[in-house]
Amino acid sequence: MTALEILTTADADRYRTTVTATVDRLADRLAAVDRPTTDTAPHELRARVADIDLDAEAIGTDRALAELDDLFVREAVWFHDPGYLAHLNCPVALPAVAAEAVLAAVNPSVDTWDQSRIGTEIERHVVDWLAGRAGFTAGDGVFTSGGSQSNLQALLLAREAATSAATGSVATTGGAVPHPVVFATAETHFSIAKSARLLGLEAVIDVPTDTTGRMRPAALAEAIAAARAAGRTPVAVVATAGTTDRGVIDPLEPIADVCDLEGVWLHVDAAYGCGLLVSPTRRHLLDGIERARSVTADLHKSFFQPVSSSVLLVRDPDDLRRTAWHADYLNPEDAAEPNQVDKSLQTTRRFDALKLWATLRASGADAVGRAFDAVIDLAAATHTMVAEHPEFDLVAPTQLSTVLFRWQPAGLPDDEADALVAPIRAALLAEGRVLVAKTVIDGRPCNKFTLLNPETTPEQMRASLDHVARTAAATAAAVNATIPALAATTPAGAAR
Ligand SMILES: *Cc1c(COP(=O)(O)O)cnc(C)c1O
Repeated sequence: MTALEILTTADADRYRTTVTATVDRLADRLAAVDRPTTDTAPHELRARVADIDLDAEAIGTDRALAELDDLFVREAVWFHDPGYLAHLNCPVALPAVAAEAVLAAVNPSVDTWDQSRIGTEIERHVVDWLAGRAGFTAGDGVFTSGGSQSNLQALLLAREAATSAATGSVATTGGAVPHPVVFATAETHFSIAKSARLLGLEAVIDVPTDTTGRMRPAALAEAIAAARAAGRTPVAVVATAGTTDRGVIDPLEPIADVCDLEGVWLHVDAAYGCGLLVSPTRRHLLDGIERARSVTADLHKSFFQPVSSSVLLVRDPDDLRRTAWHADYLNPEDAAEPNQVDKSLQTTRRFDALKLWATLRASGADAVGRAFDAVIDLAAATHTMVAEHPEFDLVAPTQLSTVLFRWQPAGLPDDEADALVAPIRAALLAEGRVLVAKTVIDGRPCNKFTLLNPETTPEQMRASLDHVARTAAATAAAVNATIPALAATTPAGAAR
């Protein structure tokens, strides 16, 4: 029988050797990474996992960790590899990684002060600092598990504010205002629609956008007026800074003007663009964010923090207090201590703030901002490469770091190019050398790079683009696409 190994004072040496061995193995893996993932077939991955009987005789900590390295780490998806270009996953800041190891061993929970003490103080200090960067001079906030959670909480606060404004009391039902609706755009992250449904809101109204996918403030004013005329209650306007696909920022100042005039809660979803808060050169892109009533920032995107790390910020601390619940055993109403659980939808909660703390202390905010700037510069260079490439079409501009493109050499009809988007992505994923995403822009499918690696060079982007072109040509050849101009120029199936 194998006993459960628990980490206690007596086990400090055992902790040291176990974690050191694990870190050593990982460092060796890291040193050897030369592609974002492997080409092991999905059915093989499934079989390897399914073959392990979790009721079989236990193998002990050391063997289990060695097995985990072989099973999982060998097959991991490495977001820091220059070929990883699929989603909003960032390479992580080293001080934050070390702080994460501290969190794993100390295992704090920042729900009540008595469970965290100085941890609560550190989270509050980090939140105050972030709120200040957003321009909230007396703001507040709380760390959450991600942008989706931050958005959900923001809409909850907006709903409660609308309800208490209508009823004059602190509401807990959300049902007190007639036909509550939220205004967003078709480019808004889907967590807004999900949250609206969870919160029992009647609808998310899509406000028309301009040709670059940004909300049109005049259309917002019209949409609010139309909703009011139809007996609906505007609960919130969600502006996105920037959008997940296009990386564009809704015009915050004119949207804030409309919200002020209409008395509607403005939420800015800066899950992606929050790194601009510390950008030495591009902070102005977020001008107007200080007029929001709530802001979502995903530090596990443009602040280079390990998952999870997100924050919901509010301009007025009272907004956060409105949803507090109290339990006699945990956070009684008359508690003298500052309990972060009063501000959170979670109870037990990770102390993710420590990772950003370590990062800021180690390198400073400017270093984070410069890293995000580098990513945005790299995206601009990549846009030029795509635009000048004979086989690719650049689909849309960006203000941040996405690259929307379609492989469409001269002579390839639109419908065939569109039909190749998904197979190209799938072929690249199967190879595991360059990982891209796919989406739909203006009704047509296209492929997408999402850049978040500040150390990737334009040369590496050029190599990735060429690799995509070769894979695309091979994919097209395999389905006998109509590519007269291409047949002579690109050797199908050439390997990187
Ligand atoms: C990524 C993203 C989210 C969701 O954040 P998670 O941390 O993945 O939950 C919300 N909004 C926008 C604009 C995003 O890009």
